[in-house]
Amino acid sequence: MMDTTVQNIVVEKVKTSKIDQIDFDNLSFGSVFTDHMLVCDYKNGAWEIPKIIPYQPITLDPSAKIFHYGQSIFEGMKAYKDSNNDVWLFRPLDNQKRLNISAKRMAIPELPEEYFMEGLKTLLKLEKKWIPQSEGSSLYIRPFIFASGKGFHASPADEYKFIIACAPSGSYFSGKVKVLIEETYSRSANGGVGFAKAGGNYAGQFYPTQLAVKKGYQQVIWTDDNTHEYIEEAGAMNIFVRINDTLITGPTSDRILDGITRKSIITIAEDEGIPVEIRKITVSEVVEASKKGILKEMFGAGTAAVVSPISGFGHKNMNYDLPELESSYASLLKKRITDIQYNKTEDKFGWRY
Ligand code: PMP
Repeated sequence: MMDTTVQNIVVEKVKTSKIDQIDFDNLSFGSVFTDHMLVCDYKNGAWEIPKIIPYQPITLDPSAKIFHYGQSIFEGMKAYKDSNNDVWLFRPLDNQKRLNISAKRMAIPELPEEYFMEGLKTLLKLEKKWIPQSEGSSLYIRPFIFASGKGFHASPADEYKFIIACAPSGSYFSGKVKVLIEETYSRSANGGVGFAKAGGNYAGQFYPTQLAVKKGYQQVIWTDDNTHEYIEEAGAMNIFVRINDTLITGPTSDRILDGITRKSIITIAEDEGIPVEIRKITVSEVVEASKKGILKEMFGAGTAAVVSPISGFGHKNMNYDLPELESSYASLLKKRITDIQYNKTEDKFGWRY
């Protein structure tokens, strides 16, 4: 049995903090990093006790399997600071569990829950000053595992590294988002790895997204690989569509990431008395609804993007604009979820940690 108790995580602190160099009033997303990181190695068939060290580059062998076979997975979470200076996570055990779901699919050894949770808590206690307090800002947390083991043989590595790095961050998108509904490329396939937060899923999206950006869109909405007729999700967000007063989102599957924001938004919307349908949405249905004027809203939901309203979409060389609403579901749901995250309201569903 593997020993999964982590009583004494060794902490090596920086000599001088770089926090004074950071402009906390003008934070972009994920581009400045805190003083420390958590590192945990998998060697000789077991995860070693995590340690915390100064944030620094990593040295790897050129044959490390991450470079050749892309064996890597990650998570995305946030730490929020309330007006009392207390720090909160949002459903962190769901991220921990999803990391292991991704690990299993990518033949990466699963990480004990305690290593993840105790490691994260110890790191956040150390980095508390780095967690921004202003509305809309938070400490973005990036736990990830990659194959550090050597060898050109196309098989799973024998060594891995689990790292948690943190970046004080502002919002992911500035303003509303225009999206292109994809008709040619696919993000994932039946039986594939779309449900995993595997690095390659994102690399595969970059080229089609670059093409969309050239046409004036910020994001691609992925459709099913078979017919390109069903709306699936966006690059880093699940998608919600409001037709008349009904809020619709597609069911998760092995092609779609089971988003923690998505499921929280569904719960909150139902609690608000909003009619919610979890069912397949066709592109034609969305286009028709737009033509009839009953497509009221579309928005993305994700940890980084929170709730991001979509201003319009492109499909088959046509552009469809969404109306500006006085009181949108997106703004209501965003307020409710962020009020929970920033401890501004009662935690009705037991999500704060
Ligand atoms: N889909 C994809 C592909 C993502 O990368 C993300 C971000 N993790 C999401 C959806 C939203 O998931 P969550 O709400 O758990 O952040």
